[in-house]
Amino acid sequence: MLVEQAFLKYLATQQQTLSPDSIGIGDDAAVLSWQADQKLVVCTDLISDETDFHLADVTPQQIGRKALAINLSDIAAMACEPVGALVTLLLPQGETSLDLAKGIYEGAAQLGQTYGCPILGGDTNSWPGKLAVSVTVLGRCPVGTPLLRSGAQPGDAIFVTGTLGGSILGDHISFHPRIREAIRLREICGLTAGMDISDGISIDLPRLCERSGVGAEIDVRLLPISDAARQMSQTTGKPPWWHALNDGEDFELLFTVPAAEADSLQAQWTEATRVTKIGTMQPGTKLYLLDESGQRLPLKPEGFSHK
Ligand SMILES: [Mg+2]
Repeated sequence: MLVEQAFLKYLATQQQTLSPDSIGIGDDAAVLSWQADQKLVVCTDLISDETDFHLADVTPQQIGRKALAINLSDIAAMACEPVGALVTLLLPQGETSLDLAKGIYEGAAQLGQTYGCPILGGDTNSWPGKLAVSVTVLGRCPVGTPLLRSGAQPGDAIFVTGTLGGSILGDHISFHPRIREAIRLREICGLTAGMDISDGISIDLPRLCERSGVGAEIDVRLLPISDAARQMSQTTGKPPWWHALNDGEDFELLFTVPAAEADSLQAQWTEATRVTKIGTMQPGTKLYLLDESGQRLPLKPEGFSHK
């Protein structure tokens, strides 16, 4: 039997939690009910062997989890919630590819369950090349409109969730998309702009600034530094804050709030994931950092980027 057919047979035995009027895997297309006044939010991401992970170093479950998690992080960045996902696999030909497909599906389905994001369908194919996994997530905006990169104003406080840096030591595989945090933030403060940190603050913040038409100043003394960033620093010789500023794949949220709301946000915040003010939006278009001694220097994009 072809791997694709065997995988479909396996999928038919898997249960996904769908709302009663929805149809997932098994028909020609998935069917979802949708409230007339709700925005549909869609994102997709492709990861492949050798570029985003090494097949020999991770489990199939971890690959599936990550492929979905990076999309959920984008949904969180819009302060929206996921509704369902499509998972498409391009498998390397060979005897182990059915197990690989099952494992990837399992990893994605399990994370999806945690975040209310069932796997609605997808496609599978084999070829004489390396593994590639593409996931598309459909989401909706529970209240208001999706949070964009374009709303930041000079004077707004810049915040991040969690801790930053050194994700290559493990967090880039096991991170938790900040869906709940984003929705909670929206409830307690007036978010003006937001995105998720995928390539590192020094690359991602300029993207947000460009969309908003503002500059920014980051104080490296305020950065929430992860244990992994400190560990990295011991081998690279760079200060821990350098890793917090430049390392990629943190998948934390970077967002802005009006200055007047910065303190009340901290006071009302009760989630386990910390939120930290790291700087301020500035008039103009230039980006600066305040270094360890408080000296103001231009912020250079030194993070990791695919492009
Ligand atoms: Mg993103």
